Amino acid sequence: MTALTEIPELPEDFLNAPLRLTVDLGALADNWRDMARRSGSARTAAVVKADAYGMGIEDAGITLYEAGARDFFVAVPSEGATLRAYAPDARIFVLSGLWPGAEQTFFDNDLVPVIASEEQLALWMAAVSERGDHPCALHVDTGFNRLGLSMKEAFELAGDVSRPASFSPVLVLSHLACADDPSSPMNRRQLESFREVSAAFEGIESSLSASAGIFLGSDYHFDLTRPGIALYGGEAVNGVANPMRPVAKAEARILQVREAAAGETVSYGGTLTLAHDSRLAIASAGYADGYLRSLSGSGVPLRQTNIPGASGFIAGKRVPVAGRVTMDLTIFDVTDLPDGAVRAGDYIELFGPNMPVDEVARAGGTIGYEMLVGLGLRYERHYLEDEN
Ligand SMILES: *Cc1c(COP(=O)(O)O)cnc(C)c1O
Repeated sequence: MTALTEIPELPEDFLNAPLRLTVDLGALADNWRDMARRSGSARTAAVVKADAYGMGIEDAGITLYEAGARDFFVAVPSEGATLRAYAPDARIFVLSGLWPGAEQTFFDNDLVPVIASEEQLALWMAAVSERGDHPCALHVDTGFNRLGLSMKEAFELAGDVSRPASFSPVLVLSHLACADDPSSPMNRRQLESFREVSAAFEGIESSLSASAGIFLGSDYHFDLTRPGIALYGGEAVNGVANPMRPVAKAEARILQVREAAAGETVSYGGTLTLAHDSRLAIASAGYADGYLRSLSGSGVPLRQTNIPGASGFIAGKRVPVAGRVTMDLTIFDVTDLPDGAVRAGDYIELFGPNMPVDEVARAGGTIGYEMLVGLGLRYERHYLEDEN
């Protein structure tokens, strides 16, 4: 085992792991700085919900904090409580808001609820009049129809002189529905609505844009931007080259290489019949590891047999998935690689610098976000330190 002495920084369990995820924290920090630059005079937050898009909230949180982020967004209070340990003086916003009984968590961990309805507003006003002042944020819906006060409710609140002094929103935010499509007229409509909201809450900071919105230009930046996917190297805008550095590399070990003859079939359902003698590499990753069944090379409903699925990257080349992806295993066709180029024990890149996550996702009918957050529990994780 010379590999251990050649690559001393890698833990032994990582070298032996059947599945491994390498997270490039230097690239993560660079991507945050890139988003901060593109955000111009607006402050730049970091969205770290869903375990920092599957990358690990501890390491990602520390890296983003050290890069300079002081505003963080999580989805639920428990994520905020975890992050608090790594971002001591940061402002942590909880996007899903609050519900009866959850108030104390926000005080205990100094979290900022993003209030999304009149019920939540009433709940929070009662909480602060009892416990004292504590910051909150207001989510106003400008056309997404997911969370948020309606415009009408927001204007009523803004004009309500009777609201308690201890009620002190620090941010008004809204979320764009179509920012990944710069040509969508929806972007302008939401921008105009949000400008009215922002003006009604004069003196309170405002925030409209996630990753994709940042690319729409300075009109969309307001006081604070909220990038998520771009930090993790994913594609934010459709149809343009992704300028972000890849952060995640997911790999699986090849367990076996086998020869199969023309006419034989591959995997469940026998949906792929080999057109010629083939060499197949069996990788130790399947849909339990977020390598989606819809990435199959054939035989998935809604995809006709023999329309290609995803590809992996091994021995310097892309190789296609053959037949159906199974729970723990996926078969790759490595026939086009030279004899002996792939051996049991080698790793295949499922996605990463050589196989963009969004390209893999598209092959499965989904988006990079879903691949990143769905990696499952079996990957050994390894963090490449930020060099800066
Ligand atoms: C998830 C989320 C973000 C981050 O979105 P990305 O597209 O990942 O940049 C920002 N704001 C809200 C309200 C979100 O739900």
